[in-house]
Amino acid sequence: MRGRVHSIETLGALDGPGIRTVVFMQGCPLRCAYCHNPDTWNAKGGVLYTPNELFERVKRFKPYFKSEGGLTLSGGEPLLQGDFCAEVLRLCRNEGIKTAIDTSGYILHKEAVDLADLIILDIKHTSPERYKALTGADIEKSFEFLDYCKKTHKPLWIRQVILTGINDTKEDMEALKSLIKGANVKKTELLPYHKMGVEKWDRLGLNYPLKDTESPTEQKMEELSRLLL
Ligand code: SF4
Repeated sequence: MRGRVHSIETLGALDGPGIRTVVFMQGCPLRCAYCHNPDTWNAKGGVLYTPNELFERVKRFKPYFKSEGGLTLSGGEPLLQGDFCAEVLRLCRNEGIKTAIDTSGYILHKEAVDLADLIILDIKHTSPERYKALTGADIEKSFEFLDYCKKTHKPLWIRQVILTGINDTKEDMEALKSLIKGANVKKTELLPYHKMGVEKWDRLGLNYPLKDTESPTEQKMEELSRLLL
């Protein structure tokens, strides 16, 4: 079995607890309008690794992980290559390395979800229509994913990118709060929308759809975060 890897970041500190090796898997079924990694979309790109080759790359950094850190599988959508991810997660578990999956929740690969210590779940929108407009996909799959995490009491970090005029109202936050009720949420992070990916869209000859969308202010982000408490 081989998996396609877009890139590997060593000593990452944002995508999960502690110091982590973040593996960005190649391929994504969504087309988020604000995606800052459109170069991960093509499922046929990337560099091929066997699970063991990737595990050996991760294991080198084990001394830095200490008790909290470990491996985060991100992307793209890592669960597009769910069988490969499950195998890497199993190898890490056997080695005592903690793991997380950073996902949109669009693909429910139960084996991989069960093997990961943490799921970082990016809930892009709570409204089916707005979700479709933002990602090009149907929301039901991400609801199923969240339901499975609730049922299995999986530890979750919930994330949402806040876009001015798209998901930045009190009602949006109330809908998000109600959606994640009953889940084993360890942390909720609202991230301000930014345009850092625009250059990549240009380089790939893609038309960036949110050129006129502003980043939310710090004050707005604080207000919205307070509504989730
Ligand atoms: S799920 Fe992530 S990688 Fe895929 S399109 Fe959306 S932001 Fe980009």
